[in-house]
Amino acid sequence: MDALLIHTPANIRYLTGFTGSAGELAVHADGAVLLTDGRYGIQAPAQLDAVGADCTVDPDATGRLDRVRSLFADHHRIGLEADAITWSQREVLVSCLGEDRIQATSGLVEDLRERKDAAELQRMERAAAIATDALAQVVAAGLGGRTERDVGFDLDDRMRRAGAAGPAYETIVASGPNAALPHARPGDRHIESGDLVIIDVGALVDGYRSDMTRSYSIGAPDPEAARMLDVVTRAQVAAAALVDAGVTVSDIDRTARAVIEEAGWGELFSHGTGHGVGLDIHEAPSVSSRATATLQPGHCITVEPGVYRAGFGGVRVEDLLVVSESGARVLTTAPKEPVVA
Ligand code: ZN
Ligand code: ZN
Repeated sequence: MDALLIHTPANIRYLTGFTGSAGELAVHADGAVLLTDGRYGIQAPAQLDAVGADCTVDPDATGRLDRVRSLFADHHRIGLEADAITWSQREVLVSCLGEDRIQATSGLVEDLRERKDAAELQRMERAAAIATDALAQVVAAGLGGRTERDVGFDLDDRMRRAGAAGPAYETIVASGPNAALPHARPGDRHIESGDLVIIDVGALVDGYRSDMTRSYSIGAPDPEAARMLDVVTRAQVAAAALVDAGVTVSDIDRTARAVIEEAGWGELFSHGTGHGVGLDIHEAPSVSSRATATLQPGHCITVEPGVYRAGFGGVRVEDLLVVSESGARVLTTAPKEPVVA
């Protein structure tokens, strides 16, 4: 390709520093142009300037297709992000550029984003620290008797007051039977003594995200819940201990799965072991049995095995780790002691 038209906001942000929600980035051999509209006429040049992006801004929303056509007038193979543009956007670009000049691409900028640099890691560390602190405060104040929704709002509020732009994703607080749903939404259920509670919480800091899950028993767990907490925590610790440069992600998945299968619950571990995190909450590399990536310094991944039993509840334990030249570092440091009030 001799040019690329980028639509994914996180990719545009990564390459230019622009945080607006409307824009396209046209990249070609001689430079890059951010096509946006008048709402960003002040913001866009300032943001690009702040990061030293080698890119000009065109904030004139009128005649957008004319600008795309003239920008790419001398280009013969123009890449589009197949995973980002809609069918109708493609149709418009076909009529603008001609079908024979456009080409589907996938993951070009996402590949660049996989390995984080020091400045990105700083933001992710801060996001993880904010979420870890918020969780510690909320757990110390006691979960029993509160609704899931109340605990979720409390976490979000504390993260915002500590400097986060917001939660990194919709905070999960799932108690009792709700904890059997890996992506439960916090509801009006009151958390009761004897419940298992899954809390999955992350913060958003300057575009970057953290991701952490802890599971708790409110008061002493019954024997089955105690075994679940023990098995999943051991699976998580064993798999996280493997994280290092040169390790294949499927080996991390296999390690977590082996501990859970040994306990007889293989079929209740119904998702992959982890995923990359960064500007997006789920990004490459994924950590699953089918994934083939080899970890490299700068990779940020979660390790989050879980076991879910319909009608009973569930347990998931998740940490966010960063791979470096000298081993892996855990960013999410909340204690894993499961018995709380
Ligand atoms: Zn999570
Ligand atoms: Zn996660």
